[in-house]
Amino acid sequence: MIKSSLILLTIMLLFSCKSNQKKNEILTNDNSIKTVAVNKDYFISENIIGEIKEEKIKLKGVETLCYVITTNSQATEHQMGPWCPRHIDEGKEKAGIWFSEGKVYDVSGHFIANLDEFYKDEKWKLFREDGSIKVTESLEECLGAAKPNVEEAYHNYCVECLPDYFKNQTTTYTIPINPMYQENSQRFGRGGIGLAFNGVKFDPPAPTHAILAAHTIAPLDDHGGHVNPHGGYHYHAVTGSTKEIEQSDVHAPIIGYAIDGFGIYALADKDNHMPSYLDDCGGHSDDIRGYHYHAGAPGGNQIIKCLHGIPGEIKIQE
Ligand SMILES: [Zn+2]
Ligand SMILES: [Zn+2]
Repeated sequence: MIKSSLILLTIMLLFSCKSNQKKNEILTNDNSIKTVAVNKDYFISENIIGEIKEEKIKLKGVETLCYVITTNSQATEHQMGPWCPRHIDEGKEKAGIWFSEGKVYDVSGHFIANLDEFYKDEKWKLFREDGSIKVTESLEECLGAAKPNVEEAYHNYCVECLPDYFKNQTTTYTIPINPMYQENSQRFGRGGIGLAFNGVKFDPPAPTHAILAAHTIAPLDDHGGHVNPHGGYHYHAVTGSTKEIEQSDVHAPIIGYAIDGFGIYALADKDNHMPSYLDDCGGHSDDIRGYHYHAGAPGGNQIIKCLHGIPGEIKIQE
């Protein structure tokens, strides 16, 4: 019995090795971590400026074939916003979400009115005597508030910048077509983590320390995005609002690519199970998808934690 199981296992292994040799897939030098090429057809073409181009670019001194993708970072498959409520009587449908210690909260007027209790700090007061909420209402106010050193005038504000303010900015992603796995992980470079299939940027964690120090909050909309002056609309959380590509097995859908060319997948699989093991960056490997990442839970302020591939580049034209 044991012997026949062993033979069966050997046959299955041989078979699975053979079926891995598809044309889109390459193995890394040590043959231990499989990688799968970027599929540019997953991107929504109307969200990409021009065509996705192929270019050879030097990454870590090595000529690497990359996709060059330019976007305006504007979502089209869902509405962008709302973010800040305007009055403490308004319900959660008039505003977005905020997060603290791994949890997601609806930013209702009630939530804004009780920030002093929420953060156990009586200096919080984002509303006026008539119950109206102090919200940045123009480009100038957005520029004064949406930065690490929040201007004094915008302390105790709900910070909201509109996608329209920065809609002419472009973001260009240069992504290695065949990702290269590295044993040592690395931090994100300037600019971001990667992008969703609608061309909107996935950003590193929002700088909550600076935001909260000025007694401001900068809510995300229900889709996990908000706007800053450097590239416009971007995501800090994955909430299932953007284009997803279903997998043929039970695995979670792919939702975008990291700047190193590895796929980013949703967290939960079709049976609502979470991955049992994820490495320091939030990635793991399987036979079908090779090495890939899973987006963190929305309350974590962290889509993925670091990169295990050689990163391409993100350039923002302001
Ligand atoms: Zn942000
Ligand atoms: Zn996975």
